[in-house]
Amino acid sequence: MSKILDGKILAQKLKDTLREETMALKARTGSVPNLVNILIGSDPGSCAYANSQRKIAEYVGFHYELRDLPQDISQKDLIAIVRKLNADKSVNGIMIHKPVPPQIHYRDVANEITINKDLEGINVTNIGKMITGDTKILPCTPAAVMEHLKSTGVDLRGKETVVVGASDIVGKPLSILLLGEMATVTVCHIATSEAGKLEEHVRRADVLIVAVGRAGVIKGDWIKNGAIVIDVGINRVDGKIIGDVEFEAAKEKAARITPVPGGVGPVTVVMLMRNGIEAFKLQTQLSDEAKV
Ligand code: NAP
Repeated sequence: MSKILDGKILAQKLKDTLREETMALKARTGSVPNLVNILIGSDPGSCAYANSQRKIAEYVGFHYELRDLPQDISQKDLIAIVRKLNADKSVNGIMIHKPVPPQIHYRDVANEITINKDLEGINVTNIGKMITGDTKILPCTPAAVMEHLKSTGVDLRGKETVVVGASDIVGKPLSILLLGEMATVTVCHIATSEAGKLEEHVRRADVLIVAVGRAGVIKGDWIKNGAIVIDVGINRVDGKIIGDVEFEAAKEKAARITPVPGGVGPVTVVMLMRNGIEAFKLQTQLSDEAKV
């Protein structure tokens, strides 16, 4: 068993499973999920990311449409487009690419996406349903972390699990998913560091997940022997992409560890497609949730 949790290998397995599921859905319903990704302006990073999404969507057998909107689109016009897509029965999933221009209030627009087409699992209603375990549409990065943990075979029940970073899109929803698996969850954030307590919490983690966005915030020698370490962070340092954990030193102590790049990132995009399947099932009444 490799110590490195290779995100590309895991992503490929998950893509193959989704591809089979898409074929089965097609045989049953005659159609496949149709996703619309809204891109505002032409940020080169966003365009590259959207293209990689398209490749994955096409690999799993979905229809994928990239809708380019002008950089100066107003909030009102954008919401009108989202509402039209919500009402369009041929569209099964909608997402809005970030970053958005300053005149757009991202959260308000994201909340306009109807919950059954919420590809990124970020509508506040879906977040609420995640807390009560009533949706399979989940925020993509936390879901990717959970897939990595599942791939290790670790039983999270009662495990000392420490999440570093408490953002609305990663740390907070992840802590809810971990609680759902009965892990004992500690969430650390800036105030934990300010209080000088970060090292203490990290040192007792059987499972450590870091999503801060600061290279080297977690020192390699803090890692507990035999811990599972998932590094979500992405930092550009001297032209290289690195994570939040001092990888080489941490690798000596961890039982399993994700690299950056090539750990959480590749799985995150696949989670978007999994949400696409769940959204499609909800709309075609194939999901139990749709029947409630
Ligand atoms: P974010 O919104 O900036 O949140 C970072 C969190 O870390 C906040 O809770 C912040 O607290 C906390 N923090 C900052 N400095 C800290 C410190 N010294 N000690 C402890 N906590 C500290 O970032 P995010 O969107 O969650 O993303 C986190 C990282 O993951 C980024 O590098 C991002 O690029 C990466 N990411 C990767 C993927 C992927 O698929 N691989 C997806 C999403 C994000 P305060 O807000 O209170 O300062």
